[in-house]
Amino acid sequence: MPFLTSAHLGLKKRVQDLVDKLIAPHAKDIEGASQFPRRAYKAFCREKLFALAMPKSHGGPEADSLSLALMVETISTVSPSSALLVFPSNAVLRTIALTGTADQKDRFFSELRGGDQPLAFCLTEPDHGSDAGNLATRAVAEGASYLVSGTKSFVTLGPNARYYLTFVRTGPGPRAAGISALLIPREAEGLSFGPPEKKMGLHGSVTSQMYLDQVRVPKANRLWGEGEGWRLLTEVANPMRVWGAASMALGAAQGLFNLALKHARREKSGGHSLIGQQAVSFLLADMRTRIEASRSLNYRTCALLDRGGAHPREMETLVSMAKYYASDTAMQVAGMAGEVMGQAMAVGDSLAARLFCVAKGIQIFDGSNQVQRLIVARNLAYVNENGGAEQGL
Ligand SMILES: Cc1cc2nc3c(=O)[nH]c(=O)nc-3n(C[C@H](O)[C@H](O)[C@H](O)COP(=O)(O)OP(=O)(O)OC[C@H]3O[C@@H](n4cnc5c(N)ncnc54)[C@H](O)[C@@H]3O)c2cc1C
Repeated sequence: MPFLTSAHLGLKKRVQDLVDKLIAPHAKDIEGASQFPRRAYKAFCREKLFALAMPKSHGGPEADSLSLALMVETISTVSPSSALLVFPSNAVLRTIALTGTADQKDRFFSELRGGDQPLAFCLTEPDHGSDAGNLATRAVAEGASYLVSGTKSFVTLGPNARYYLTFVRTGPGPRAAGISALLIPREAEGLSFGPPEKKMGLHGSVTSQMYLDQVRVPKANRLWGEGEGWRLLTEVANPMRVWGAASMALGAAQGLFNLALKHARREKSGGHSLIGQQAVSFLLADMRTRIEASRSLNYRTCALLDRGGAHPREMETLVSMAKYYASDTAMQVAGMAGEVMGQAMAVGDSLAARLFCVAKGIQIFDGSNQVQRLIVARNLAYVNENGGAEQGL
């Protein structure tokens, strides 16, 4: 892979070893049980994976997007639910690194440096998913604090996070203009959670509603200025979906392919294996090809993000393409894996069936694929005649 340095390959090996030893043997149980994946949590704490994005200035490795993508992809080949421990955590950590004041970084990073604290991201509300610009959770200023009330839905990590990066309405501005971003600590009075959602997949990732009843949050916990939350979301947080959701989808697709290939190579009674059937081998060839195409788009987009200098609209376009292409690919690969595996996937608690459901979930979350298409389509009106694509990588 031309984009990967020896540091990237070293990290990938470290995560792969951890996954092979501590996650893969239990993946089916983790993906099936509707509870916090403690085993994965402990393994990630030991390797400090929750703090991979911690800046060097605060004692961390300051992993770049490509490193984070490799971590999320590798874990997701067997347990996407486990990846949902470290993906939102590093996304929030990096958001603080990129937007926090010196005081905020000192305060939050001194607590998070240990690499054992999950962090959550709270944008969606019961009536505002894709339409997040109209969110209704309200923060009313009172002295040096806000009093926050409302309901957030589908909060990945539920009650298990240390801080919740929460998007709230602080001003009367039309739609997105009145939105601010607050870091709310778990122990804040008035903060509570509903039971875990009974999702079709990703059972090992706890997802709950979050209720805020007059929660007092210091203004000092606001990232960027009042009313700048939407800009923070679109300019800083959204690009992370390439190493987050897109890499999860890529990993899940690779995991499904691995299972299908193993199944097809297995010798059946009579001495032949399915891979000898041309129809089956063509399915596997298509799966492999689509996964490689998705991987190239992902890694190149991460590399451009890390290098910097690309036009923001072009960067936004590539990130959206990577997210919807990777998760649509995962869904296609899931269907093809089902054709190869037959009854071995039809069993509801098989890892293949679990990963099938994961693929659908990733098409929906972190900005639905239709919304990603809208972004790519909208930007076509602006991109320059050469297609706007950055050359040289
Ligand atoms: C497993 C999982 C984990 C999640 N974790 C989090 C989390 O940690 N934090 C968080 O804030 N949210 C989280 N979410 C919520 C997720 O981001 C939302 O589900 C997503 O944004 C879509 O919102 P919605 O479900 O309300 O669908 P809707 O917005 O109601 O959309 C329904 C359908 O209509 C389409 N659609 C909507 N608007 C348009 C449009 N303008 N043009 C074309 N098509 C459109 C969508 O593509 C979608 O297919 C999670 C969701 C899932 C499934």
